[in-house]
Amino acid sequence: CGIVGYIGNKQAYSILIKGLRRLEYRGYDSAGVALINDNGNLNVCKTKGKVDNLEEYCKDKDVSGTVGIAHTRWATHGEPSAVNAHPHYSESKNLAIIHNGIIENYADLKRKLQSKGVEFRSDTDTEVLVQLVEYIMEHKDVDLLTAVQVALFQVIGAYAIAIIDKRDPNQIIAARKQSPLLVGIGKDEFFLGSDATPLVEYTDKVVYLEDGNIAVIRRGEELKVVSIFGEEQQLKVKKVDINLGQLE
Ligand code: GLU
Repeated sequence: CGIVGYIGNKQAYSILIKGLRRLEYRGYDSAGVALINDNGNLNVCKTKGKVDNLEEYCKDKDVSGTVGIAHTRWATHGEPSAVNAHPHYSESKNLAIIHNGIIENYADLKRKLQSKGVEFRSDTDTEVLVQLVEYIMEHKDVDLLTAVQVALFQVIGAYAIAIIDKRDPNQIIAARKQSPLLVGIGKDEFFLGSDATPLVEYTDKVVYLEDGNIAVIRRGEELKVVSIFGEEQQLKVKKVDINLGQLE
């Protein structure tokens, strides 16, 4: 339902939580965050209920790190619960994903992965995506971007997704199809949102991803947007009016 992301020099957690609060108006049943800390550990923290519950639950957990993704979920596949809340991680716990939308052919993909020995934790359509990306990375020996492209070719449905990989903490990969997603460009930092409300207090420079676009968001580098085929797309940077943020 709601997506927030951050990569830069600041601690991500409070930016992510604040962003989730800005998206609360959309309604949701659970919430969660995933961050990669300075030791390269991927920590996922998620609960059923409100962002307040999440903050309470995360109080004694390690939520440090300058890269992270956060989500408020409105369940479509799998009951509202902590296990079904996003972020979902791959079996190896290298990757974490957040997802808005529905993966229509998730049952087929899940069966295929299970027949290869992949074990699933949740009842969501979303977990299939992250397990598929990890499976492709491992078995085809490709990087995260390529694996996301290959995975999305197999996926039928609507999505806005963001993925982080603890083996490469300088990157967030984000993609969209029929579900809004935009990247806010700051000074040496990037923000991600399913609408502009979480971003507007930090930057007025945004790139709205188009259907089939994948954003390669790397710390300290220029934002790159590619198609599902890998063709680089021209960046259309827009100025967003702080007061109109919520209407975009
Ligand atoms: N289909 C996903 C789920 O049920 C995502 C729902 C959403 O957009 O929040 O977990």
